[in-house]
Amino acid sequence: MIQLRRNRQEYDVCIIGSGAGGGMAAYMLTQAGARVSVIEAGPKWYSSEDSAMLKWNYDSPRRGASTPDRPFGEFDGCIGGWQVEGEPYTMAPGERFDWWRARMLGGRTNHWGRISLRFGPDDFRRGSMDGLGDDWPIDYDDIAPYYDRVDRLVGIFGSREGLPNDPDGIFQPAPRPRCYELLIKDACDRLGITCIPARLSILTQPLGNRVPCHYCGQCGRGCMTNSNFSSPEVLIRPALATGNLTLYLEAMAREVTVDARGHATGVSYVDKATGEDRHVRARIVVLAASACESARLLLNSKSSQFPDGLANGSGMVGRYLTDTTGAGVQGFIPKMMERPPHNEDGSGSGHIFMPWWLDNRTLDFPRGYHIEVGGGFDMPGYGVLGGVERYPAGGGWGRQLKDDYRRYFGATVGFAGRGEMVPNENCYCEIDPDVVDRWGIPVLRFHWQWSDHEVQQAKHMQETFRSIVEAMGGEVFAPMPTREERYGLMNGGSIIHELGCVRMGNDPARSVVDANCRAHEVPNLFVADGGPFVSQPDKNPTWTILALSMRTSEHVARLMKEGAL
Ligand SMILES: Cc1cc2nc3c(=O)[nH]c(=O)nc-3n(C[C@H](O)[C@H](O)[C@H](O)COP(=O)(O)OP(=O)(O)OC[C@H]3O[C@@H](n4cnc5c(N)ncnc54)[C@H](O)[C@@H]3O)c2cc1C
Ligand code: SF4
Repeated sequence: MIQLRRNRQEYDVCIIGSGAGGGMAAYMLTQAGARVSVIEAGPKWYSSEDSAMLKWNYDSPRRGASTPDRPFGEFDGCIGGWQVEGEPYTMAPGERFDWWRARMLGGRTNHWGRISLRFGPDDFRRGSMDGLGDDWPIDYDDIAPYYDRVDRLVGIFGSREGLPNDPDGIFQPAPRPRCYELLIKDACDRLGITCIPARLSILTQPLGNRVPCHYCGQCGRGCMTNSNFSSPEVLIRPALATGNLTLYLEAMAREVTVDARGHATGVSYVDKATGEDRHVRARIVVLAASACESARLLLNSKSSQFPDGLANGSGMVGRYLTDTTGAGVQGFIPKMMERPPHNEDGSGSGHIFMPWWLDNRTLDFPRGYHIEVGGGFDMPGYGVLGGVERYPAGGGWGRQLKDDYRRYFGATVGFAGRGEMVPNENCYCEIDPDVVDRWGIPVLRFHWQWSDHEVQQAKHMQETFRSIVEAMGGEVFAPMPTREERYGLMNGGSIIHELGCVRMGNDPARSVVDANCRAHEVPNLFVADGGPFVSQPDKNPTWTILALSMRTSEHVARLMKEGAL
């Protein structure tokens, strides 16, 4: 039996996790006057203090190359990765799901790509449009006011385009495209592919006490000037400033505790510094540990009232796990060779993107994708132009090799398709009955199977990207992947947009939380991360996690004020 050290203080709200969802919940609820505790598995991390934004790659003995602890490069602003020491997860035999976890204040918002896209009206009703999957219990009009408020609070650049299913936001001006992006746009215009300015949560004008971006291109390391969005700087700091927030750092939540009525009473956690089991009492619990981890917490919170896990009477916790589809192509563009070296850094991601531009009713796959771009003269690290011998007359030794690196550097472009999958019953997570983590907490076992819908979509991505490279007068060195290779469709989870597992709905037999992200079976339990998502539109999910968390938090604050919680 675990001995819990109980905290005598009772908070109004205990939030698990401080990333996009948890940071927004902490911000909203502390502003509303609630006394809030946040249980966070990682240590303190503020980009203004801890980022490696201004380091050169040659400051590193590995020239910025990745390490097991830093899969995206040594200076990347993330503590965590595909594997977290002492915290395994397992997969069903023959199946593969990659699970990226951050363990730090702010979670993955410290190093994410900042691509910040609203879902469109159709994204909430795909089920009734084509019979595949389910509709959300809310529609675009329910969430639009919260998108507006997130835009104003966090800051986003973009352009007003009036596209039907890619709604405009309240944008700051977008930066100009780089040279290679102008060439891509030119090719897309000729091919009839919509190509517009990117939408990134990066400031191009001052906002509050935050200054605009100075275009160093290092957003993934965290921004020392707070010109991009991270939860610790933009949400947690103001929440702390209210005096209503207590952070419990390096605190690994084990389970949500309940009383005899089956209401949540707080959260038990492991103090990672001492290994002691402790407990925080709260009148309301908000899960925001990321979609799969929130499912894990629910499944591990077993009691006589909830023998199959908290709020899991429907058996839906862990079900309908989704990720964005992904496939990529790199191209060599001869006309971009031997350009005079110049600073092409810009903001930390592409300055253009291509929203979905076709009608799936005319295609052999049901859902769309958007295209993200990369290329040009970004700061070279270890391994740049790997395989320089593939370029015409490239390679060799000594001076020729050095000269070839200079000639070919900056002459490549990359396209990444990011698409919508149809949720299916074969993608889910459950508790592995045989494996526990270093604290004895049972771990997740993943099941994953792509369907033909996603494989056919990846084929279309490949063909499209290759046609753009060709229209730019370029060459793709890698052959088209075969159907057996799923046309290059990447592993489930590898786009790091995992959603679902605690999905929302009006029917308690088919969903875990209601339209306000409140558990059907536990009146004082809410979910504020990607868990409640019913589907996985092609748009990157974090802007919607933020907007939904804001909406959920406002609902919690209203219920508290009415004395209903
Ligand atoms: C490299 C990269 C690029 C990305 N780019 C984009 C992009 O451009 N656009 C986009 O929309 N999305 C992007 N994403 C995805 C985005 O980061 C996530 O959608 C978002 O951060 C999810 O927010 P969250 O609050 O659910 O989870 P997280 O941000 O992961 O936060 C979860 C928090 O919970 C804590 N936690 C977990 N388990 C426990 C526990 N048991 N006890 C206590 N604390 C716990 C973690 O330490 C973490 O701080 C990217 C992700 C990565 C890794
Ligand atoms: S590119 Fe801009 S937002 Fe990104 S780290 Fe540099 S200054 Fe900050």
